[in-house]
Amino acid sequence: MKKIKKTTKADIFLKSFERWQKILGLTDWKMVWCKYARRMSTYAQIKYSASTRAFYLYHNLRGCQNPAAVGLHEALHLLLADAQIKSEKEEHRIIYRLENLLAEAEKQGY
Ligand SMILES: [Zn+2]
Repeated sequence: MKKIKKTTKADIFLKSFERWQKILGLTDWKMVWCKYARRMSTYAQIKYSASTRAFYLYHNLRGCQNPAAVGLHEALHLLLADAQIKSEKEEHRIIYRLENLLAEAEKQGY
Protein backbone atom coordinates (compact mmCIF):
# COMPACT_ATOMS: atom_id res chain seq x y z
CA MET A 1 0.00 0.00 0.00
CA LYS A 2 1.25 3.44 -0.93
CA LYS A 3 1.75 5.79 1.98
CA ILE A 4 0.23 9.22 1.63
CA LYS A 5 2.62 11.86 2.91
CA LYS A 6 1.08 14.19 5.43
CA THR A 7 1.43 17.89 4.68
CA THR A 8 3.77 19.34 7.27
CA LYS A 9 4.24 22.89 8.50
CA ALA A 10 7.52 22.88 6.58
CA ASP A 11 5.63 22.02 3.36
CA ILE A 12 3.23 24.92 3.92
CA PHE A 13 6.13 27.25 4.73
CA LEU A 14 8.07 26.29 1.60
CA LYS A 15 5.03 26.43 -0.68
CA SER A 16 4.19 29.91 0.62
CA PHE A 17 7.79 31.07 0.25
CA GLU A 18 7.94 29.85 -3.36
CA ARG A 19 4.58 31.45 -4.17
CA TRP A 20 5.76 34.84 -2.87
CA GLN A 21 9.15 34.46 -4.52
CA LYS A 22 7.33 34.20 -7.84
CA ILE A 23 4.84 37.02 -7.12
CA LEU A 24 7.66 39.34 -6.01
CA GLY A 25 9.65 38.53 -9.15
CA LEU A 26 12.60 37.07 -7.27
CA THR A 27 13.10 34.36 -9.88
CA ASP A 28 16.78 35.16 -10.44
CA TRP A 29 17.42 33.70 -6.99
CA LYS A 30 18.00 29.96 -6.59
CA MET A 31 17.35 27.98 -3.46
CA VAL A 32 20.26 25.74 -2.48
CA TRP A 33 18.41 24.08 0.37
CA CYS A 34 15.52 24.31 2.76
CA LYS A 35 16.54 22.60 5.97
CA TYR A 36 15.21 21.93 9.42
CA ALA A 37 17.46 23.54 12.01
CA ARG A 38 17.38 22.22 15.53
CA ARG A 39 18.50 25.36 17.33
CA MET A 40 16.79 28.53 16.22
CA SER A 41 15.51 31.61 17.97
CA THR A 42 12.95 32.26 15.19
CA TYR A 43 10.66 30.00 13.16
CA ALA A 44 12.74 30.50 10.04
CA GLN A 45 15.75 32.24 8.66
CA ILE A 46 17.11 32.99 5.22
CA LYS A 47 20.74 33.34 4.31
CA TYR A 48 21.82 34.51 0.89
CA SER A 49 24.61 35.70 -1.30
CA ALA A 50 23.58 38.70 -3.39
CA SER A 51 26.46 38.09 -5.80
CA THR A 52 25.73 34.41 -6.57
CA ARG A 53 21.93 34.75 -6.11
CA ALA A 54 21.95 31.60 -3.97
CA PHE A 55 19.88 31.35 -0.82
CA TYR A 56 19.42 28.92 2.03
CA LEU A 57 16.31 28.50 4.12
CA TYR A 58 16.28 27.17 7.66
CA HIS A 59 13.17 26.40 9.63
CA ASN A 60 12.00 25.12 12.94
CA LEU A 61 8.25 25.62 12.96
CA ARG A 62 7.43 23.84 16.16
CA GLY A 63 4.73 25.90 17.88
CA CYS A 64 4.18 28.03 14.79
CA GLN A 65 0.51 28.79 14.12
CA ASN A 66 0.92 30.28 10.64
CA PRO A 67 3.75 28.76 8.60
CA ALA A 68 2.43 30.44 5.42
CA ALA A 69 2.98 33.86 7.00
CA VAL A 70 6.53 32.81 7.89
CA GLY A 71 7.07 31.91 4.23
CA LEU A 72 5.99 35.42 3.19
CA HIS A 73 8.21 36.97 5.86
CA GLU A 74 11.32 35.18 4.57
CA ALA A 75 10.45 36.05 0.95
CA LEU A 76 10.30 39.72 1.99
CA HIS A 77 13.80 39.40 3.44
CA LEU A 78 14.92 38.19 0.00
CA LEU A 79 13.09 41.11 -1.64
CA LEU A 80 15.18 43.50 0.46
CA ALA A 81 18.45 41.63 -0.11
CA ASP A 82 19.63 44.04 -2.78
CA ALA A 83 18.68 47.09 -0.73
CA GLN A 84 21.59 46.30 1.62
CA ILE A 85 19.86 47.63 4.70
CA LYS A 86 22.44 47.80 7.44
CA SER A 87 20.32 47.09 10.51
CA GLU A 88 18.10 44.08 11.04
CA LYS A 89 15.72 46.23 13.07
CA GLU A 90 15.32 48.65 10.15
CA GLU A 91 14.77 45.75 7.72
CA HIS A 92 12.09 44.27 9.98
CA ARG A 93 10.37 47.64 10.25
CA ILE A 94 9.96 47.66 6.44
CA ILE A 95 8.94 43.99 6.35
CA TYR A 96 6.20 44.50 8.97
CA ARG A 97 4.83 47.40 6.92
CA LEU A 98 4.83 45.28 3.78
CA GLU A 99 3.09 42.44 5.64
CA ASN A 100 0.41 44.89 6.82
CA LEU A 101 0.07 46.29 3.32
CA LEU A 102 -0.39 42.84 1.79
CA ALA A 103 -2.88 41.81 4.48
CA GLU A 104 -4.88 45.00 3.89
CA ALA A 105 -4.75 44.57 0.10
CA GLU A 106 -6.02 41.02 0.49
CA LYS A 107 -8.85 42.24 2.73
CA GLN A 108 -9.78 44.86 0.13
CA GLY A 109 -9.77 42.21 -2.59
CA TYR A 110 -6.81 43.48 -4.64
ZN1 LIG B 1 12.71 38.44 9.84
